[in-house]
Amino acid sequence: MITMLHTGEQRGAVLSSLVGNTPLLRLANVARAEVGQGVELCAKAEWYNPGGSVKDRAALHMLNEGIQRGALTPEKIIIDATSGNTGIAYAMFGAVLGYRVQLAVPANATVERKRLLAAYGADVFYTDPLEGTDGAQEIVRRLVQQHPDRYFYPDQYNNPANWQAHYVSTALEILEQTHGRVTHFVAGLGTTGTFVGTARRLKETLPAVRCIGVQPDSPLHGLEGLKHLRTAHVPGIFDPSLVDEMIEVASEEAYEMARRVAREEGLLIGPSSAAALVAALRIAKGLTHGVVVTIFADHGTRYASELFRGTDHAAPYAYRFA
Ligand code: PMP
Repeated sequence: MITMLHTGEQRGAVLSSLVGNTPLLRLANVARAEVGQGVELCAKAEWYNPGGSVKDRAALHMLNEGIQRGALTPEKIIIDATSGNTGIAYAMFGAVLGYRVQLAVPANATVERKRLLAAYGADVFYTDPLEGTDGAQEIVRRLVQQHPDRYFYPDQYNNPANWQAHYVSTALEILEQTHGRVTHFVAGLGTTGTFVGTARRLKETLPAVRCIGVQPDSPLHGLEGLKHLRTAHVPGIFDPSLVDEMIEVASEEAYEMARRVAREEGLLIGPSSAAALVAALRIAKGLTHGVVVTIFADHGTRYASELFRGTDHAAPYAYRFA
């Protein structure tokens, strides 16, 4: 039955119901040449969320938590610091539910992300790219201090509702989709919400599961959404006791992996997803048996102008088909 959705609230409810339950993709082609037959390599395709990234889960959970405790009321402006995807999620939910959204975003976010934020009508302050999301957080804190009554500030780096979103959704989906067979969980670290919430629940259910965090190998990197924790502010929600192993990945290695996965699996993944896959493949290569699950946080089209730049060499039609 097709239902007409009349109000923003109704549409918001439908949008919310579409968050999560993303497919778990088996990456047989990438694994084939390098990984033993007893090892399965899989990834959650998070671009199937309505806002196009894993951050729909956290944003929705933080907004709902704010509404439930009465902190997010209709006149409030939603404000936060974000490298882009959480902002896109806030902007999308804000537009449908009628909240204004203001975001502080490092100025080196991709053109695609900037356009999406503008398209959803968010007000964006671009901050010093050299300071990353730490600089963006500073600006938001200052604004909230100046006008505490004007804003709802989820503060995704320090808000337990961020990791709890994954504790109640991502982890349960992985357990169900692998029939409880997951042996290794690999995820990139940004706010660390995805890693912390998923790892915490997986370890409670399967104490032997190993959880691997993924970071860029240097402070100046091209892995949008990830943090170099040795030099950045460590998010308040991070719990290092959940990390069995930390793997650092170079941006170029991740970019090469993104291009490889496009050709070998027919999947366009973003740089942070590709970094997670580089790490997952490293883990998988060391095993004889196991189910390695990683997270593909968003889609490669969100970075196409940079990630796949080397691919626009096709000759004009007249030459190719003459
Ligand atoms: N990849 C991308 C593309 C992201 O936008 C983010 C969010 N910062 C992450 C990975 C990391 O997710 P989390 O914030 O849950 O650690």
